Amino acid sequence: MAQTAVYRALAALSGFDTWEMEKYARAPSQEVRVWDARGPDRGELHSTCSTIPNEVDPWTMPENALRPELSLKFPGSLQPSDLPDMAVSAPPAGVLGMGPDPNWIDNFTTCIFKQDYDTAREVLRSAIARGASTHLAEQYAKVLEEFLTKRDEVENPVVLARFDECVVRETSSGQGRGLYVPSYQTWGAQLWKERPLAYIQSPGSRKCVQVCCACLLPVGSLASQLKYINLEPPPGSEKIPLSTYPDEVCPDGFCPGQVITCDGNDCSEVFCSESCRSWALSESSHAILCKGRLGPKSWSALQSLELLAIETDSEHLLLLAHHVACMTLARRSGQSFEAVKHRFASQFASAPWDSLAGADDSDTPEERRRCMSCAIPLLETIFEAEDLASGFLDSELLSNILGTFELVNMCISLPHPLNSRADVADYLTEELAEALSKMQEPLQSDSESEQETEHASSPLASARQGQLFENVIGTALCEALAFTNHSCLPNCRIEFATASQPEAKGPGLWMYSVTRRPLVPGDEVLMAYVPSVVGQPLQVRQRKMQKFGFTCHCRTCETDRVLESEPVPVDTSSGYPQP
Ligand SMILES: [Zn+2]
Ligand SMILES: [Zn+2]
Ligand SMILES: [Zn+2]
Repeated sequence: MAQTAVYRALAALSGFDTWEMEKYARAPSQEVRVWDARGPDRGELHSTCSTIPNEVDPWTMPENALRPELSLKFPGSLQPSDLPDMAVSAPPAGVLGMGPDPNWIDNFTTCIFKQDYDTAREVLRSAIARGASTHLAEQYAKVLEEFLTKRDEVENPVVLARFDECVVRETSSGQGRGLYVPSYQTWGAQLWKERPLAYIQSPGSRKCVQVCCACLLPVGSLASQLKYINLEPPPGSEKIPLSTYPDEVCPDGFCPGQVITCDGNDCSEVFCSESCRSWALSESSHAILCKGRLGPKSWSALQSLELLAIETDSEHLLLLAHHVACMTLARRSGQSFEAVKHRFASQFASAPWDSLAGADDSDTPEERRRCMSCAIPLLETIFEAEDLASGFLDSELLSNILGTFELVNMCISLPHPLNSRADVADYLTEELAEALSKMQEPLQSDSESEQETEHASSPLASARQGQLFENVIGTALCEALAFTNHSCLPNCRIEFATASQPEAKGPGLWMYSVTRRPLVPGDEVLMAYVPSVVGQPLQVRQRKMQKFGFTCHCRTCETDRVLESEPVPVDTSSGYPQP
């Protein structure tokens, strides 16, 4: 019975690329482990694990499974967490136990000459998965890349945009656009890196943690953070700086605990460094929205917009002001109205904001139109002194930008530096820790982790375990990311870097994409919109994606659905499937 299920799982999976297969078949040691996609209990997807003798190649398993001499051992139940995260590092060469097919280069070349580039790509991918040398991988990836380039010269597909190693094109199915790599990318390669077009710390997070206005890094000390939320700092807490760096390796211009004020007339924003401050005051939305630069009427309109965003639980309304500010700055730098409108609005997927209503009963198109009718006059007042902004304050354009935010924005989540300091607990009393925890409660419901981590018995205990402080939360519209499609088995992950981190290319907040496995020329770059779906059974993934407002039809989900819906075949007396 179980063998049949393994066989069927592998047969159904044969449409997968080899790295996707690798989720189901993996060899951490001498043995090949095969995820039984059905399991003894239907619906318990991926939760059991089978062992196959190491001479069996999981990719030829469907044929081999018909050999009566093959024996399968079942070591009992394993959880996905029992296996190391493949995303962290490349497996040692040949970890899959068999080395590349000796004929792979011939097969690859044959495919190339037949112009069957999709198969050539899978032959190459399989060889890399089985430990072909990096040198060979790069050499043959180059061949594939050159042939794909030649094909493109003939077919002339439209490249809609370029982001570092990636291009945006229509997807091969013709439904929508996707991000593709023209050339080979190894493990952990960076595909693109950019500052989001516009981003803000969420209003709820802003109440709990004081961050650099430019890069969103929490600043100051335990004492200054407690004061920020109107709690009395205990003695000595000013000696606990917020820094992820030991003092001696702190990069130039960054100093643990340092808080740089804006100095704009009464502006209460702060910065982590002088470089973040000067960048923010010249190139970020703060260059326009600083209290010291807005007139009193405009400033109070911005305050009202923030309140509206909080009351209606629509932080995107506040982001809209920052977005319009960034568009205005782009106009000031000499870009044409049309160019700015394209880059900040019309290039993205969109729909009128009111047409996307329906997350819950109170979220109706009428309610959204009411919000818009409150927000637009506020935006007009905020930007009343900015002639260059007036063209962007059109209600249809603003509604479409809000629609874009809703469809493609990424949630920012940055770790709180105080969680890495166990001695924080020595300075906190039970009451203080309790107050901090209470304050942050609204943020906990926002996080998508669904309480997967076990919570400590008391707030003070969670401070000791480095869990008291919630992540800094925000929302960002990032260009390359907006074109990246979803997969429950993603081949890249998204990272953030604040100004002082080595990955940042300058002041402000940076986002970048890192490969989770090698990509061969022509591959589509895919990310998990909800990172916690990775490695979860179908039902859990569907539930999480549904909460995100999305029914997932990625290849992993479609295959799992097929496996679930087909009846288990009748077992034979021998225990082996019939041909
Ligand atoms: Zn900063
Ligand atoms: Zn300011
Ligand atoms: Zn999926």
